[in-house]
Amino acid sequence: MNILVLNCGSSSVKFQLIATDVELIAQNADRRLARGVIERIGGEAIITLHAEGREAQRSTAPLRDTRAAVELIIRWACSETSGIDTVKSVADVHAIGHRVVHGGERFTHSVLITDEVLRGIEDCIDLAPLHNPANIKGITAAREVFGVGLPQAAVFDTAFHQTLPDRAYLYALPYQLYRRHRIRRYGFHGTSHRYVAYRYRQLRNIARDETNVITLHLGNGCSAAAIRRGDSIDTSMGLTPLEGLVMGTRSGDLDPAIIDFIAAKEGLSAQEVETLLNKQSGLIGISGLTNDMRELLAEAREHDDRRARLAVEIFCYRVRKYIGAYLAAMNGADAIIFTGGIGENSVEVRALICDGLQWLGLELDEERNAAQREGREGIISHDNSRLAAYVIPTDEELLIARDTVRCVRGVPQRF
Ligand code: ADP
Repeated sequence: MNILVLNCGSSSVKFQLIATDVELIAQNADRRLARGVIERIGGEAIITLHAEGREAQRSTAPLRDTRAAVELIIRWACSETSGIDTVKSVADVHAIGHRVVHGGERFTHSVLITDEVLRGIEDCIDLAPLHNPANIKGITAAREVFGVGLPQAAVFDTAFHQTLPDRAYLYALPYQLYRRHRIRRYGFHGTSHRYVAYRYRQLRNIARDETNVITLHLGNGCSAAAIRRGDSIDTSMGLTPLEGLVMGTRSGDLDPAIIDFIAAKEGLSAQEVETLLNKQSGLIGISGLTNDMRELLAEAREHDDRRARLAVEIFCYRVRKYIGAYLAAMNGADAIIFTGGIGENSVEVRALICDGLQWLGLELDEERNAAQREGREGIISHDNSRLAAYVIPTDEELLIARDTVRCVRGVPQRF
């Protein structure tokens, strides 16, 4: 089946076209046909379209809305210029898989989208006011372009973390706040944590219930997950993606009293402080330079910039503290797994995080660490390291495509 994977943001659409099916999944033989991203929808959009084995095509065009972007993607995929030989008309797309950010407590697995499911996603808008409306727009746009008859599946960022026990997901707030408003830890990046934990057990040739790992998704957004016997039992993001690790522009954990303090001292509203914590904090806040880890490392190295170095140090220190906490929460683990743009590529950040974990039995192998970058996967610790470390590039789109196939074919999902 040819699956169109859509990740719709407020002004962007990322997509992949993946050929997969039940047997192909079993053989790990799924085929990526194309990928691309359309940004700045609503104005002169920037379009990147990339068919497998060909040069990426870049252009701009005025695009009014998400629907116009989806139309453009399918028109291109079917055209001669894309060169995708197995997609000649709309009928050659057999199902669509959507990344949906928030599934609340209702969605514990990926599901085929019905009107009732769509209402369920709408009910979660309160919990993800920026993301879920954009995801819903993507779903309705795809219905308009492909017709209501084409199966569409929703794959939720929160679903993998629905196995958290109540002691991990509840905040120490008055309990009625949870009962009334469902204020609790949900966690995000679930598809990524789930994918790398799955790849890890493939690499080690072990069963799901033998999978005891800490997964570190370090990209622009960052989160850690404690995975015990294959299930997520704790994760660092909370009700929203603001909690936990230091991120590109988000503060992660802080004393909640700081919010009022900043508001009073700086004359800001609660909303403005929330924006400050989400958009002007983290790496960019500390360094005053950039949210881009690669640039920060270069600044620290080439110009000995003190605040760039400090931002990197605080980032790594926070990750290390979470590793320690999760080892305690899960009664030990077999491995830590790095993924996301920073986790997959930065030899230096991985070394800084692991430096100080020797006591826990983690012996980083410098040569192996230096070799794992640019999409390569593998072990980066010594063979005799008690706690192993791996780099596993994430592939959320592949998992979304596979879940879509499983939903359509009615076969159980491997969570
Ligand atoms: P997103 O969360 O938006 O998907 P990514 O997972 O692509 O983001 O991660 C982006 C981050 O990865 C940026 O901070 C970028 O600087 C960092 N990154 C990418 N390549 C490297 C590298 N070689 N060294 C250090 N950081 C890198």
